[in-house]
Amino acid sequence: MDKNVKICIIGGGPAGLSAGMYLEKKGYENYEILERLDRVGGKCWSPTYNGRRYEMGAIMGVPSYYAVHDAEEFCGITHDGPKLNRNYKDSKGNVIEPFEPKKNILKIPRLLKMKKQIKVLGELLETKYKGYDLNGHRGVAEGRYEGFSQANAKREPVSGENPNLKDLALPFKEFCRINNVELTQDVWIGPFTSFGYGYFDEIPAAYVLKYLDFKTCMNFVKINLWTWKNGTQFIWEQLNDHLKHPAVLNSKIEKIERTKDKVLVTVNGEVKEYDKLIVTAPLFIPDKRADGQKGFIEYCDAREDEKALFSKIDYERYDVLAVETKPEDHPEISYYVFDNMVPERLGHMMVYYRRWRDTKDQVITTYALRKHKDKAEVSYEDCRKMVLEDLKTMKNPASNVINEWSVYYFPHVFSDDYAAGWYDKVEAMQDKYNTFYAGEIMSFGDMDETAEYSRELVERFF
Ligand SMILES: Cc1cc2nc3c(=O)[nH]c(=O)nc-3n(C[C@H](O)[C@H](O)[C@H](O)COP(=O)(O)OP(=O)(O)OC[C@H]3O[C@@H](n4cnc5c(N)ncnc54)[C@H](O)[C@@H]3O)c2cc1C
Repeated sequence: MDKNVKICIIGGGPAGLSAGMYLEKKGYENYEILERLDRVGGKCWSPTYNGRRYEMGAIMGVPSYYAVHDAEEFCGITHDGPKLNRNYKDSKGNVIEPFEPKKNILKIPRLLKMKKQIKVLGELLETKYKGYDLNGHRGVAEGRYEGFSQANAKREPVSGENPNLKDLALPFKEFCRINNVELTQDVWIGPFTSFGYGYFDEIPAAYVLKYLDFKTCMNFVKINLWTWKNGTQFIWEQLNDHLKHPAVLNSKIEKIERTKDKVLVTVNGEVKEYDKLIVTAPLFIPDKRADGQKGFIEYCDAREDEKALFSKIDYERYDVLAVETKPEDHPEISYYVFDNMVPERLGHMMVYYRRWRDTKDQVITTYALRKHKDKAEVSYEDCRKMVLEDLKTMKNPASNVINEWSVYYFPHVFSDDYAAGWYDKVEAMQDKYNTFYAGEIMSFGDMDETAEYSRELVERFF
């Protein structure tokens, strides 16, 4: 493509800013990033409290976050945050040790079986499901893999046929059942469901295993994780500052028209002309959101194929509260509440995070899911009440809520659409209307998968 091509990138989150970085690295400098808010970072939002930054959005990474590492290198920063640690509680607030055989003599047979199944799953992923862990979903529904190896930071192109990959369209619970590794869910559930990515009986295995590939899941088990002292938002603020063209904040896009050769974007009352568009903002939002966010197909001249495909996208209702406690009520560590990670406990607190271990004058953040595809949604207000009650039950009552949000989280499609080739259909539309689709839906809802997808998009098309 001509290096002077004028590119509009919608969204100043990890996907949009990374797209800018990778375009620049490849010699494309004629780009503009439009961000609707007055800050960059998107779901990496790290406000300040008592002089320190806490996390309302993304918290952690793992050593295989190669694209995040590219961003760190680009601006000369590193993951220098407080060490993560956690323990477990049941729904009554008792501390439990679910993975400690010495403290669970009766559970030893199950724990041994689980350990065996983890090993089996590891082997299956390397052999039967070879190619499962590439970024994005190209070819999976057709039993192919195509992308860039995630084995190391070099990320070399790989491709091949593997009909078994079609199993990844199944809900993860079903995928585990057909492979006789059902107990592995006990380990995968912590960094999946409690992190807001839905329940294993509804979410296709592809999402679970592309994010929590075997190595990444073991990094969670061993707590081999990265955090950032100034919050994950700092990564993207720094990247933004180092770009030749930092994001244009407060960009209110009113309309997008795509002619044969041009993309006309009406933003803050002015019509701007570009050659290409990269959309990292939500493509479709099925309901009216309180924060006024709209899906791309609502403000662009959406074509029939875009409308038909994007209207299949759903997202999670994942709520975060940041609370103060009295010093004597401060939890000594972060906790997973395992009992609450099942659909029957929708709306209850699944995890709470104590970020700063050296002081009790910082906030605690709580996390709850209130949607399952086959159940009535719990309202925001009810969920909030339940979480505050749960904190009391955990013996860490909140004295005050200082921040809260219910975010457009983890866009995805369900198994039928996945199996029917949703991803290959969308991939075939890349550049069809001078438009490229990127961001979470195209890979997975974490910082690295979205940034990596932007890298690969630039590699493939520019
Ligand atoms: C509570 C929580 C915890 C998380 N924990 C982790 C974690 O520990 N590790 C991890 O890797 N990830 C985590 N994530 C996920 C991670 O933050 C996201 O996957 C990542 O930020 C996605 O990047 P993105 O650029 O695709 O989307 P976003 O971060 O959502 O950015 C999209 C941007 O587009 C902007 N935008 C939207 N509409 C428009 C429009 N019409 N015009 C212009 N701009 C628009 C938005 O304002 C936003 O800035 C977490 C997220 C949350 C909410």
